[in-house]
Amino acid sequence: MIPVPHPFRWQPGDGLRHATTNSYGDRVTALCGASVSSDNSQTAWLWKTCPSCDVSAHELAGVPIVRR
Ligand SMILES: [Zn+2]
Repeated sequence: MIPVPHPFRWQPGDGLRHATTNSYGDRVTALCGASVSSDNSQTAWLWKTCPSCDVSAHELAGVPIVRR
């Protein structure tokens, strides 16, 4: 079975890792509604995940959030 790609991707920007359905660009609209400046630096990928984008991404993926 071929896995279906998720309809979003992660994009660090403005201090958080957001999720977006936008294509790559200098500025994207995140699932949380924020317009963020894309930052693809090495350290940006280690930023904390935007809590609102995390919820939306899980909903789009059909995966329940597991709180630890
Ligand atoms: Zn966000």
